[in-house]
Amino acid sequence: MAKIAVIGTGAVGATAAYTLITSDLAEEIVLLDINRSRAEGEALDLGDSTAFTGPVLVYAGDYPDCGNADIVIFTAGAGQRPGESRLALAERNHSILRDVLTKLAVHWRDGLLLIVTNPVDVLTYAAAKLTGLESARVLGSGTILDSARFRYALSAYAGVDARSIHAYVIGEHGDSAVPLWSRATVAGISFDDFCRQKGIASPDREAITAAIRQAAYRIIERKGATYYAIGLGIRRICEAILKDQKSVLTVSGLCEGQYGYRDTAFSLPVVVGKNGQGAALELPLDTEEESALRKSVAVLKTAQERLGL
Ligand code: NAD
Repeated sequence: MAKIAVIGTGAVGATAAYTLITSDLAEEIVLLDINRSRAEGEALDLGDSTAFTGPVLVYAGDYPDCGNADIVIFTAGAGQRPGESRLALAERNHSILRDVLTKLAVHWRDGLLLIVTNPVDVLTYAAAKLTGLESARVLGSGTILDSARFRYALSAYAGVDARSIHAYVIGEHGDSAVPLWSRATVAGISFDDFCRQKGIASPDREAITAAIRQAAYRIIERKGATYYAIGLGIRRICEAILKDQKSVLTVSGLCEGQYGYRDTAFSLPVVVGKNGQGAALELPLDTEEESALRKSVAVLKTAQERLGL
């Protein structure tokens, strides 16, 4: 059983802690927030939950308490306001990340770092550079959520359990995310072939791609933040790590030459297990997907340069 530290116990951090409490993955969860009282409130509420879930030691702590954490989850910082892009948060959240990682480094050396705060790819790149940790140990939640949204959209369209659909979104977790339509399959057959066999038309790719890219905007406009699906996405990544499941997930990490790209971080399907992430997989892309990925990487590199990374 493991110890997890959650830094930033707002909507996303608290929801992630809640999903972890209900999943029997960790025996100890430490919550840390610049607003100590908020972390304490969440810890008390979550502590009460353990009478229903089974014993988990959950408490509000400080950096020394993170020392032996197997996974440190970074969810601190500003979220998008209605209509605001993730990239617009870069400067504010980069400075919070720097501050947190400097304090963390005094106490924490082993374990894995999971970045969730937006813009997640830019901050994952920054975290890898700032900590100097080997690239396998610095993961970003990346497009795990976008891939879930893609699978959910295809599932609703085709009337098949989303868990029976393999479909990936790569690139930026943001406005330039790239759904890989050419690789989407059900039972090993392409999604278009599946639709033909079912006697239904192929879905409107542009509409679904736009819905995936705009999903967060639609939710934030209505309820101010997104946190349930990413909370479960965080749990899924922690599960793959702590149970050494070697699951293929679209998480963000340092790109090491895949598709010819370097010196940046974005999501590709990766095998995730106890040592973090393996080398990212290179799926064959069609020309449209190649061009969309090129644009996505260019967006991220520009954002990195603006931060001086
Ligand atoms: P929130 O405002 O509810 O919570 C942020 C928390 O961070 C607050 O409790 C705040 O006190 C804390 N914080 C700020 N500075 C800190 C510091 N220096 N040290 C410790 N704690 C600090 O925001 P939220 O809705 O929980 O979102 C958090 C981040 O997660 C945002 O950047 C948001 O865009 C991002 N997010 C990412 C995904 C994803 O898929 N990667 C999905 C949803 C949200």
